[in-house]
Amino acid sequence: MSTTMASAPERRVLILGGTAEARALAALIADQPALAVVSSLAGRVADPRLPVGEVRIGGFGGAAGLTRWLTEHHIDAMVDATHPYATRMRTAAVDAATTAGVAHLRLERPGWTAQQGDRWHRVPNVDAAVRMLPTLGRRVLLTTGRQSIAAFLPLSGLWILARVVDAPADPIPAHVQLLRSRGPYTLSGELDLMRTHRIDVLVTKDSGGPLTEAKLAAARHLGLPVLMIDRPAPLASSTVVTTVEEAMRWLSGVPVQPG
Ligand code: NAP
Repeated sequence: MSTTMASAPERRVLILGGTAEARALAALIADQPALAVVSSLAGRVADPRLPVGEVRIGGFGGAAGLTRWLTEHHIDAMVDATHPYATRMRTAAVDAATTAGVAHLRLERPGWTAQQGDRWHRVPNVDAAVRMLPTLGRRVLLTTGRQSIAAFLPLSGLWILARVVDAPADPIPAHVQLLRSRGPYTLSGELDLMRTHRIDVLVTKDSGGPLTEAKLAAARHLGLPVLMIDRPAPLASSTVVTTVEEAMRWLSGVPVQPG
């Protein structure tokens, strides 16, 4: 007599992405027969780096839209691996997971740590950075992303090299030059960029991770001040891990939703 072993039901995972960690997690899940993954991107970037596996692109329509989406797609677990500064999505994810009864995890890479020789000035937000910037330098490398450029445009006494993946829709004044590029970056490349443009101050978010940290080493090497915009405060309600390996361990303990 032959017997057939019933295989464990598949668990469906939604990854809220747009980060290297989200892509790495999708690649790990793709190797697990017991897990099925859908990655979600906001659609902000014209030519995004796509993760392995199924991908959907575009907003959900707030927490209510995400709640509906989770239910309709029978999602068992949601890993919010969005960027540390994507605060609206992060809040909506917690709310939707609670309402839909879906297991929720926040995957967030650690921020950077200052080293000897660094001249970092930490500020709590973009507005505080705009206020402090004129006291630190005159020729700025601005690396905080397209969405925050508008806040720096009134600083017409400064020359600003704004590095972005995609150009902003609005016109850019003469004291701002756009540099369209996407990491990862190297120390020699960053040194070259800062020297060529005679940069005397760097503005950055505390994004963390290795792909864009060469600018910090370059600033240290050149003795430049760095204006570091702090991360938004974490949500107390989230379970947070910092590595994809921890996220995989968490996923292995998530039960399949009934129905
Ligand atoms: P945000 O302000 O928190 O989100 C704005 C809206 O965009 C959300 O309300 C949601 O629209 C939609 N959205 C955001 N992330 C989404 C995702 N992964 N899938 C589907 N919809 C998403 O976010 P943001 O700062 O604009 O970031 C947008 C995306 O870029 C995120 O995926 C993030 O990981 C990535 N990113 C952001 C930064 C940064 O500095 N903020 C840097 C690198 C990458 P609905 O309300 O319609 O659902």
